[in-house]
Amino acid sequence: MGKRQFSDEERYAVYTVHAEKCYLCGVPVDLLSMEVDHVIPEALLDDPPKLAEVLAGFGLSPGFDLQSFANWMPACGPCNGRKRSRVFDPTPRIQLELQIAAEKAPKAAALAAEVVTSQKLTKSWNAIKRAAAGGYLREDLRAAICEFASQTAPHREPEVAARPMRLTPLIEVISEAGGIRLVRGPYGVGGGPVGPDVHGSFRCSTCGHTAWNGARCVVCGQMDDD
Ligand SMILES: [Zn+2]
Ligand SMILES: [Zn+2]
Repeated sequence: MGKRQFSDEERYAVYTVHAEKCYLCGVPVDLLSMEVDHVIPEALLDDPPKLAEVLAGFGLSPGFDLQSFANWMPACGPCNGRKRSRVFDPTPRIQLELQIAAEKAPKAAALAAEVVTSQKLTKSWNAIKRAAAGGYLREDLRAAICEFASQTAPHREPEVAARPMRLTPLIEVISEAGGIRLVRGPYGVGGGPVGPDVHGSFRCSTCGHTAWNGARCVVCGQMDDD
């Protein structure tokens, strides 16, 4: 049986309801790099007797769906890589994670459904992927990412609501207040004006971004020497 390919909306929902961090090591992860782990490994679907034994060991019903939000958790690459298809022992720690996943599953399903029906969110998600692939933010991509941040902000878990939203390894949305956007780029955190009326002189002549930290563009490192 092949590995499940997660849709963008499933990834977003898992990421958001589990507070944007790896469930194994607790380190914050970004939305694009995050991996979805099956707490009970999906490889067990190929071995029904073993699966039945594992589910019984965890006190889960024989009908427990391995391909559901009740079994999906966000993980960082290193943790997911180390775990691979290992089956956890039914320790209290892992029992607790499964219990939390079950509790959060309805919210996750609702969030995923909302993304599916929102063309705006689908568009902005694609913009995030293009921005990550291009290495910098063109203005249209920035606008779409801004849209994504404002639409998704109300769904963030209270414990992370005040923290930067990590969208890709290099793009973080820190605040949208007062028409100033702050972004963390390879060259630090920078800010600049947002909106359609921004004068060209605010833009980096190399990458077009308006995220400055002093005289340096935080996205491409260009110094503003005029
Ligand atoms: Zn981890
Ligand atoms: Zn630049």
